[in-house]
Amino acid sequence: MSAAHSCIFCKIVDKSIPSKKVYEDEEIYAFHDINPWAPIHFLVIPKAHIPSMLHLTTEHQALMGRIMALIPQLALEQGCNPYPEGGFRVVCNNGTEGGQEVHHLHIHVMGGPRPWLRG
Ligand code: 5GP
Ligand code: ZN
Repeated sequence: MSAAHSCIFCKIVDKSIPSKKVYEDEEIYAFHDINPWAPIHFLVIPKAHIPSMLHLTTEHQALMGRIMALIPQLALEQGCNPYPEGGFRVVCNNGTEGGQEVHHLHIHVMGGPRPWLRG
């Protein structure tokens, strides 16, 4: 609970910090990254405070499956070009050595015409 209270993405979920919403349902929230690396760059997160993929258990299988199946739909809705010339990149950083800065599980979805700022 205390982790959730100090977590910036929990605050985005409870709307105490504003964000540009891409998608929302009972257990998933998606919003534009504040510092995009690509023409299209949004984050998909579970509403529940799960710090990283290393905290996933079997009880999260359906949720993570829903997130992965949702991503291509949202990517196309946000303007990513069709496969195979278009497409999108998915990145999930886990832990400090994994490059994770915000410790609430999130999947980066990036797309659009290149070049991109990073990658
Ligand atoms: P990480 O390095 O943890 O994988 O990525 C964290 C991402 O969250 C970064 O790309 C960063 O730009 C984004 N971010 C950090 N704070 C905020 C915020 O307050 N609002 C939004 N929309 N994105 C944020
Ligand atoms: Zn959180």
